[in-house]
Amino acid sequence: MSDIVKHDPDCLFCKIVSGEIPSSKVYEDEVCYAFKDIDPQAPVHFLVIPKEHIQSCAAVDGSNSAVVGHIFEVIAKLAAELDLGDGFRVVSNVGRQAGQSVPHLHFHVLSGRDMTWPPG
Ligand code: AMP
Ligand code: ZN
Repeated sequence: MSDIVKHDPDCLFCKIVSGEIPSSKVYEDEVCYAFKDIDPQAPVHFLVIPKEHIQSCAAVDGSNSAVVGHIFEVIAKLAAELDLGDGFRVVSNVGRQAGQSVPHLHFHVLSGRDMTWPPG
């Protein structure tokens, strides 16, 4: 079981969830929050985050995996609503080498342009 810290007062994304830092909301429910990335890498680029503080994919376990399942249901729903049927990418960077810059679990949803593989 991971330590459950519902809100980390020093965490940028916890401050976005609480409204302390403004954001451009895409979707919200009791479990998760979605907002536009401040530095978009595609015509559509938003982040979906749990409201509770989870550090990254590496901190997902039996105590919080239902939150992740819910987030993926929300992503599918938003992709349909936003008409991303031509394709979209879901990315979650974990740790320094993968380029995670905010230590609060987040899923990037990118769409609206052709994408290459492998990623950089
Ligand atoms: P990562 O580098 O994978 O941890 O992703 C963090 C993302 O958060 C980056 O794409 C940033 O552009 C984005 N970001 C940082 N600060 C904000 C903010 N205040 N509002 C919206 N997006 C942000
Ligand atoms: Zn947080």
